[in-house]
Amino acid sequence: MPELPEVETVKETLKRELLGRVIKGVRIFYPNIIEFPDLETFQRELVDQEIVDLKRRGKWILFELEDYYLLSHLRMEGKYLFRAPEDEVGRHEHVAFLLDDGRELRYHDTRKFGRMHLLKKEELNLRRPLNELGLEPWDEKLTVTYLKEQFQNKKIPIKTALLDQSIIVGIGNIYDDEVLFMSHIRPLTPANSLTKRELQAIIDNTRIVLEKAIHAGGTTIRSYESSEGVHGLFQHELFVHGKETCPICGHDIVKIKVGGRGTYYCPKCQK
Ligand SMILES: [Zn+2]
Repeated sequence: MPELPEVETVKETLKRELLGRVIKGVRIFYPNIIEFPDLETFQRELVDQEIVDLKRRGKWILFELEDYYLLSHLRMEGKYLFRAPEDEVGRHEHVAFLLDDGRELRYHDTRKFGRMHLLKKEELNLRRPLNELGLEPWDEKLTVTYLKEQFQNKKIPIKTALLDQSIIVGIGNIYDDEVLFMSHIRPLTPANSLTKRELQAIIDNTRIVLEKAIHAGGTTIRSYESSEGVHGLFQHELFVHGKETCPICGHDIVKIKVGGRGTYYCPKCQK
């Protein structure tokens, strides 16, 4: 599943291609991808909208149009491809946006879990899905005080708490393990027992890990590739996730399940 850094890479790649382009038509081959509004409105309202910017919020890609935001979540396997309108539509291509330069932007998703919403600009933060999201890792409101408050009644493992997208967005399973390793915190530690110093370490290391991953173009564990087949390199730089030996102390890495998710830690470095 693409995590925040991969989504950021896809967004930046698409931005280079799409800024200033105007949508001239929409074809929908698998209606379930469109979650809101109804198909007819979706198709009608997108026509003649210029793409003025591309943004990201959590793992949602936001196509900023003149009057709307088109939100797209790739879920497990979604990606974007450019095709000519007359090219045969592949069985995994579910939505096609005809552009004013004659190309067609197609949404490809073998698993069909991806979703799109079309929201009026003023509604962006007032309704699903963005009104349910927590803070971006770089939001200045993300502080030790904020995390203390969010975690105060949570005895769940910190590993699980960091995956909760209503608190902080963008920490997926892989980066969660990396952040906890760098912060010297064991994944099963109850979230409400962390000290201020540990919480500050989590904030700092979340930013470091995600920035490094964005810089490297995201990880490519499993079948992920970004919209133009750009493969990330960050997986070679992971400290603990998927590893057998700790690169710092040489101790065996322990693999456990936390909340059903494969979790890696070093018992010597993380106490
Ligand atoms: Zn170690």
